[in-house]
Amino acid sequence: MKITVPHDVKAIIEKLEACGFSAYAVGGCIRDSLMGKQPHDWDICTSAKPEEILGALGTHNIIESGLKHGTVTVKVNEQLYEITTFRSEGEYRDNRRPESVKFITSLKEDLSRRDFTVNAMAYNSSEGLCDYFGGESDIGNMIIRCVGDPDKRFTEDALRIMRALRFASKLGFEIEENTKSALRRNAHLLKKISVERITAELVQILDGEFAEQILLDYTDVLGVFLPEILPMVGLEQRNPHHSYDVWTHTVYVIVNSPHGKVMRLAALLHDIAKPRCFTIDEKGTGHFHGHPEVGAKLSGKILRRLHLDNDTIAKVGTLIRYHDQRPKLEPKYVRRLISKTGIDCFEPLMELKRADAKGQNPQTIPPKLEYIDELEKMFHELTSDGNEFNIRSLKLTGSDLIDLGIGEGKEIGYYLNEMLEMVIEGKISNDRNALIAEVRRRIKDTGGWK
Ligand code: ATP
Ligand code: MG
Repeated sequence: MKITVPHDVKAIIEKLEACGFSAYAVGGCIRDSLMGKQPHDWDICTSAKPEEILGALGTHNIIESGLKHGTVTVKVNEQLYEITTFRSEGEYRDNRRPESVKFITSLKEDLSRRDFTVNAMAYNSSEGLCDYFGGESDIGNMIIRCVGDPDKRFTEDALRIMRALRFASKLGFEIEENTKSALRRNAHLLKKISVERITAELVQILDGEFAEQILLDYTDVLGVFLPEILPMVGLEQRNPHHSYDVWTHTVYVIVNSPHGKVMRLAALLHDIAKPRCFTIDEKGTGHFHGHPEVGAKLSGKILRRLHLDNDTIAKVGTLIRYHDQRPKLEPKYVRRLISKTGIDCFEPLMELKRADAKGQNPQTIPPKLEYIDELEKMFHELTSDGNEFNIRSLKLTGSDLIDLGIGEGKEIGYYLNEMLEMVIEGKISNDRNALIAEVRRRIKDTGGWK
């Protein structure tokens, strides 16, 4: 496989070489190129020390922020390139970071500190591919293998455990046996890794094209920081709608969901409360009453612990809370659901419901999908004018009510809710004049709101 280095990367490498240093494209870009994929960024490694890199490239277009870590970031044609001096790492502390970093001149030694063989290759046009650890052959055989002793590499930096799962989930590679057993042996060290780093990797693992096998095979590893998923494993649902235990079902829902952080996290956690809501009736049928509401709350707790942003937490909570709602296909029931989810969450909710159906008893899937299609169609019809069936989208405002002589805050709230209720029920259209006339009629008929 030929590696095509972009013109600007080649120019950076040549400038460094012209000053007597060696320089290579390295890491993920070489892996992706060898796989015939377009790399999303190009990293460069060099024997030049940071100040020597600045000397060779000039100080313009340098982004200062990485300099203190010994990485020079340069901007060429709006693209950022990280240029890192060859380095060896000292003893590790906290199972994450080396105590010290030493600049060195050997490419091989620099590559030996990298995590996996597929990520430990370098290339430049004068020397070709530099592959000291069998990365090219591991790519051919689709294998993730640690460079060196896997136990040592995972204890040095336990985040590599998550990176191994991430690459396996994204690339569809198998984790090599020794790497796999060391990964499990050291999984407990994930407790020491900063939660932001764990979460960033988790989101990518869930999003991988090959997530299914990873989620099924490494549930115990994820359980180190997500213990709530462990009781889902093997929990048989004893219900004609379901053919799989709760965790297997969940994995199918994840991989049938659209890509993206919100959808995949919602799928992961949509049934998180099933183990604690499980009951069996006198006929031996399993039920999970209340699991969407309990699950929505529990998901908030889990996602806050994982330091997810508030917007994601709110959206995931809404999706989980309403994932099991099946309103009758009549406008008033559908309007009520829209009033709860809002317009923005409704289609994601339909996507979650489709994925959820696809993870259930295969015989029940087609009618469930047909129902969801109908529900979505009705949603589009009902919201074509932007009406969300909440107080905000009601064409009657507090100041309209004040103009009608209603002064008290509570009374204003009462009328707004009453009118919204009538709009949802289809007893009145969301039209300002009609709503004002209705309020007038009520004041006249009843003499007030109490
Ligand atoms: P991606 O395509 O996701 O960017 P990548 O392989 O480029 O994948 P980066 O996180 O950008 O991953 O890291 C760049 C390179 O740095 C890796 O290819 C690997 O050689 C090395 N590396 C990154 N993180 C680690 C780590 N925790 N331990 C050892 N080497 C690492
Ligand atoms: Mg990268």
